[in-house]
Amino acid sequence: MAKPPATHEPKHPVSVTDTSGEVPPHLFRKAVEQAALAISITDARANILYANGAFQRITGYGTDEIVGHNESILSYRVTPKLVYETLWAQIQRQRPWNGLLVNKRKDGSRYLADVTITPVVSEEGETTHYLGMHRDVTEVHRLERQVQNQKTLIESVVDAAQVAIALLDEKERVVLDNQEYKKLIGDLGKEPAVKLLAALREQMGDVFTKAHDKHRNLAAREVCIVTPSKAARWFSCAVSWFEEQDVGADAFYEPLRRHYLLLTIQDISELKRQQEALRINSLRALLAEQERIQGLRETLAGAVFQLEGPLNMLSAAANLLERRLSTQSPSNGAGDISASALEEAMHKSREALETLRACIPDQSNEAMQVIDLNDVLVDVLKLATASLLSAGIVVEWSPSDKPATIAALPAQLTNLFKQLVTNAIEAMNERRGGMRELRITCKSNSDHFEVLVEDSGPGIADDLRYKVFQPFFTTKGATKQHLGLGLAMAQEVVSRHGGTIDIDTAYRNGCRVRVQLPLTTGGSHV
Ligand code: FAD
Repeated sequence: MAKPPATHEPKHPVSVTDTSGEVPPHLFRKAVEQAALAISITDARANILYANGAFQRITGYGTDEIVGHNESILSYRVTPKLVYETLWAQIQRQRPWNGLLVNKRKDGSRYLADVTITPVVSEEGETTHYLGMHRDVTEVHRLERQVQNQKTLIESVVDAAQVAIALLDEKERVVLDNQEYKKLIGDLGKEPAVKLLAALREQMGDVFTKAHDKHRNLAAREVCIVTPSKAARWFSCAVSWFEEQDVGADAFYEPLRRHYLLLTIQDISELKRQQEALRINSLRALLAEQERIQGLRETLAGAVFQLEGPLNMLSAAANLLERRLSTQSPSNGAGDISASALEEAMHKSREALETLRACIPDQSNEAMQVIDLNDVLVDVLKLATASLLSAGIVVEWSPSDKPATIAALPAQLTNLFKQLVTNAIEAMNERRGGMRELRITCKSNSDHFEVLVEDSGPGIADDLRYKVFQPFFTTKGATKQHLGLGLAMAQEVVSRHGGTIDIDTAYRNGCRVRVQLPLTTGGSHV
C-alpha cells in the first residue's frame, strides 16, 4: 500500500485550459505531487498513506521509509502533550487544526513546522482520512524571534534611559514611551509629549512648523510648562524623525513611508532653579557693590558740599581782611602775617577739598540695554523675598499686560526699585499690627511706563513729599544704616533715565511712590 489510490490516466491529457469546470484526478495528483508544501494523507489514526515530494525533501524520508508509519515519527518529544491533545480533540470534532510543532527529520535535526491538519469526511459523516500540510518555518521563526529580541532589547534600553522618551506617530499619538515618560504623566497629566510639542510650537512659531512639515530634527530647546498644581517646570526637548516602511499589504508593491517623531525630554527644572539662584545672587552682589559705590559718591559729594560752605565764608573773610589791610598805612606787620597765614590755610583747605573730590568714585559704566520692566520688578521681589517673608508682608504684583520694554541701565534700575521696596518694608515694620501689604503695579501708557510701589505703612506727610528726596534727609534718624541717601539715589537714577519719581499725596492707605519712565530713555528709542 505504497501508493495512493490508482486513477485512470486519459489517453489524451485534458488541457488545463479546459473550461468545462472538471479537473481530472490525475491532474489533482500531479498538482499535489509537485506542490511546494509538504502534503501527507493518513488514515484515521494518522498512519501515513501518501507523502508528496516536498514532504520527502523536508523530512528526509523517502516514500518507502515513511508510508505505513505514524505521523508521530516526526515528533520531537519536546512538544507538550497538551498540544497533541488539543490537535486531536479538534480534528476529531472534524475541524481543521493549525499550529506549530517541533519536528525531527530522518537525520535527527529539528525544524519548526507550521502544520495544518484537515479531516477528510465520508458521505456517511465518518472521518476516514486526514490531510496534513506543513512547511518549514524555522527561518521565519528565527527572524521573528530576532526581531522580538531586538525589540525587547530596545525597549529595555529605552526604559533604562535617564531621560523621558516618547515616540509619536503622524497623528501625534504616543506609540512607545519609557518609565521616565510615565513619571511625567503623573506630574503633568496626559499627554506630556503633546503639551511639550504645543509649547515648542508656540515658542518657535513658523520655525517649528517648517521643521515639522519637512521632518527636520530639532536640537535641544528649553520649554516651560505650568503643571496642574501651578508649578513651573522646565524641560529640554529634542525632536528627531524616523521613517518606517509600511508593512501593510497595500504597501507591498508600492512602498508607503510612515514618519515617527521621537521626543526626548530632560527635566531641567532643578538646573534652572540653581541657575536662577546663582543669577539672583550675582545680581545681589552687583547691586550691593553699586549701592556701596553710590553711597560713597553721595557721602563724599555731601562732605565736599558741607566743607565748601565754611571755606567760602573763610574766603570772603580773607578778602575782607585783605581789603582792610590795603587801606591801612603804613602796613601793620602783624596784619600781614595773619593775612598770609589765612591765605596759606585756605590754599591747604582747597587742596584738601580737591583731594576729597578726586576720591569720589566714578559712576558705574553700565551700558544701556533693552530690558523688560516686568522682569526687573520680578527680580526685585526675588531679592526681597526673605525680608518680605520675615516681615509677614503680603505682596500683590500686577505686571503690565504687554512687555514693558525700554532701554535702560538694568542694574541701576533694579537698585532703584529695590530701594523703594526696602523703604516700604522698613516703613511697614515701623507700624505695629494691621495688614502688611505691598502692591507693585506696572502699567504701560502711550508714551511712558508707570510703576507704583504702594505700602500699608504710616505714609509720608504732605510737607515732606519733596524733602525726602534730598540727600541726607531721613525720617528714621541718621543712624549708620540710614544716611538718608536712598531716595536721593532713586531720584538720580530716575533722572538718568529721563523719568520722574514722586510721592502720591492723594494716597491715604500708606505710601505710594510713583515712577514714570518714558518709552525713550537716555536718548535711545526702543
Ligand atoms: P501519541 O501517543 O501519538 O499522541 C499523544 C496524544 O495525542 C495522545 O495522548 C492522544 O490524546 C492524542 N492522540 C494520538 N493519536 C490519537 C488518535 N488516533 N486518536 C485520538 N487521539 C490521539 N505530529 C507531529 O509531531 N508532527 C507532525 O508533523 C504531525 N503531523 C500530523 C499529520 C496528520 C494528518 C495527523 C492526523 C497527525 C499528525 N501529527 C503530527 C500528530 C501525531 O499523529 C501524534 O499524535 C503526535 O506526533 C504525538 O505523538 P506521540 O507519539 O508523542 O504521542
